[in-house]
Amino acid sequence: MQTFNLHTHTDRCGHAIGSDEEYVQAAIKAEIKVLGFSDHVPWSTAKLFTERMPMDRKNDYLHSIEHLKHKYRDQITILSGYECEFFPDMADELLLRKAEVDYLILGQHNPKMDVRDFARHNDDDDLLIYADLIEQACESGLFTYMAHPDYFMKGRNHWNARCIEVTHRICQAAKKANLPMEVNLNGMRYGMQEYVGLGDRFAYPFFEFWQIAAQYDIRTVFGFDAHKPVTLTEDFRYNKVVEILDGLSFSWVEDPFSIIK
Ligand SMILES: [Zn+2]
Ligand SMILES: [Zn+2]
Repeated sequence: MQTFNLHTHTDRCGHAIGSDEEYVQAAIKAEIKVLGFSDHVPWSTAKLFTERMPMDRKNDYLHSIEHLKHKYRDQITILSGYECEFFPDMADELLLRKAEVDYLILGQHNPKMDVRDFARHNDDDDLLIYADLIEQACESGLFTYMAHPDYFMKGRNHWNARCIEVTHRICQAAKKANLPMEVNLNGMRYGMQEYVGLGDRFAYPFFEFWQIAAQYDIRTVFGFDAHKPVTLTEDFRYNKVVEILDGLSFSWVEDPFSIIK
């Protein structure tokens, strides 16, 4: 099992629970050696606060992580980060956020600020926007890894030629930028949904996506995407995901410091 986790939320985003310290204690219990907080980044122009921390919670977030880094320094290495969308018109602000933390991960949840989530619904045209933004994000060089690249399957009920096309585009972009991709351990929190011709599945990891990804020489990372402290201690998530990806092989990142930038 991986001994680091760079995908950890806090209650500031409006849809996670638990204190910051409880996440740290859960990680220690799970024998995680490096824990990175990567809550949903605040954007100055955002208006929806059920999806991300408001800007006025940012300093509290950064101070809390600094405090915990110090307090638990003999037990665990704690890092600060943000999970961010890539919006081309917000690139300058993203640079400011990057300067505040140890790393950024890419989580392309929306096509535009506060505009509908790819996980709620997306059509074939939306997928082109999704791929386009991810390609630009890869080229930006700002990110340590790409979270849940198969996130779009949450907003669909079928896998088709467009899904295949964008999966290749995403993998090519990640390969070119040498950006690892995350196999998300928390896609199962939504339960299963029915996919035409494929039956009931968790939205991600989505086997057909990773079957294509396995053809590329891309490094992969597990991410708990914890929105509750207990998630970090739940081994069944690995077992379930290994079962979903049965037969595929990847080159897993062993040292988080080899990818952090
Ligand atoms: Zn979240
Ligand atoms: Zn995410």
